[in-house]
Amino acid sequence: MDRGGQIAVVGGGPAGLACALLMAGAGASIDLFAPAAAGRDSRTSALMRGSVEILRAIGVWDELKPRAAPLQRLRLVDATGRLVRAPEVTFDAAELGRGPFGYNIHNVDLTDAMTRRLAAFPTLRAHAQAVSAVAPLADRVRLTSGDGGRFEAALVAAADGRDSQCREAAGISCLRHDYPQVALAFNVCHALPHDDVSTEFHTPSGPLTFVPLPGNISSVVWVVRPEEADRLLALEDDAFCEDLRRRCYGLLGGFSSPGKRHGFALSLRTAWRMAQRRIALVGEAGHVVPPIGAQGLNLGLRDGATLAEIAVDALRAGKDPGSEECQAAYAQARRADIAGRSAAIDLLNRSVLSPFLPAQAMRGAGLFLLSRLAPLRHAAMRAGLAAPVLEPRVMRGEPL
Ligand SMILES: Cc1cc2nc3c(=O)[nH]c(=O)nc-3n(C[C@H](O)[C@H](O)[C@H](O)COP(=O)(O)OP(=O)(O)OC[C@H]3O[C@@H](n4cnc5c(N)ncnc54)[C@H](O)[C@@H]3O)c2cc1C
Repeated sequence: MDRGGQIAVVGGGPAGLACALLMAGAGASIDLFAPAAAGRDSRTSALMRGSVEILRAIGVWDELKPRAAPLQRLRLVDATGRLVRAPEVTFDAAELGRGPFGYNIHNVDLTDAMTRRLAAFPTLRAHAQAVSAVAPLADRVRLTSGDGGRFEAALVAAADGRDSQCREAAGISCLRHDYPQVALAFNVCHALPHDDVSTEFHTPSGPLTFVPLPGNISSVVWVVRPEEADRLLALEDDAFCEDLRRRCYGLLGGFSSPGKRHGFALSLRTAWRMAQRRIALVGEAGHVVPPIGAQGLNLGLRDGATLAEIAVDALRAGKDPGSEECQAAYAQARRADIAGRSAAIDLLNRSVLSPFLPAQAMRGAGLFLLSRLAPLRHAAMRAGLAAPVLEPRVMRGEPL
């Protein structure tokens, strides 16, 4: 027999969990399909203020805060060694006067806290099986779970990651670009304190970014050419730490205990539409951006909060949460934010890689103006923190 609530959420990554918890918190009937993660890595996410508001709204922030590190200042350093060098720019959250830009959090802490929270909501049924088949029908979507269970929902929140099966079932294609770069991600101890400053070195192969964690520890994303990634991954810890120390001019003193290093091929993917056939894309199912400027999950959480608001408002008004109207509202609400962030990250990455003088000069001039003009710097900081459209209610501290 077919079972199912009003809404199905497919995928138990951070974006799917947040979306399911927000909707269940507002009383919606949710089937969440969240198989246990195949492998858990040591990645962290720098989450901006609005994302922290989402974590607060779903009731996990008090638990997470003691294990997260505040981001008080963001520093950009031109380490390209090229003819046109940009001045160092520091963005200080104190200039805006509303606490830190955000917090850096271990991904496993985030998903573990959200997974524990699922039990608090009686209208949320969490299934440990993956979805094996997705069939959009005129007035509902039929889902089959790995153990043969059949479910139906008026709306599917597809948070099943970059190779989304739900996106394929919806017939939504993706714009895709692969960069000749790999991001190495690891956490490392250092001799000197980071003072809650995140530092991004722009090197000729891509950014090298240190993001604070509690104590004298930082999470690092180091973007390099694929052959350099192979070399760095093969180094013994001591040699690797020495290489890292030289690349960042000894900024944090000596390094130790770099932990396991993971390599991620850099790519950009953007779905042509964010919703179709009652399937709405959430998180990396809808967009993948290079890990530069800490945008990926911040975008994914904004997707989840926006979809939750539109679906819950429809249910409260006695309407169909998977209607064409709701799908169009969701796609419209997310378009500018996703397109704008993806384009900005792509441009920054290409300008660092570019050997052409005009591109380097433009980047240098932009950073020069940011370093000298406080109003421009404040505008850039606000743009980095908030979406270009009206944010969903929970991100403004209001109830859903
Ligand atoms: C090196 C690196 C550093 C990053 N740093 C930051 C940062 O500082 N800040 C930031 O905002 N972002 C950052 N990101 C991006 C961020 O990690 C991702 O955006 C985020 O993890 C994606 O979450 P998601 O829930 O959309 O997808 P995923 O985490 O991929 O989750 C998808 C889930 O769907 C499940 N699934 C798949 N198929 C099915 C199915 N058929 N049925 C049911 N479930 C299914 C999977 O098991 C998985 O659990 C970084 C990325 C990288 C690579």
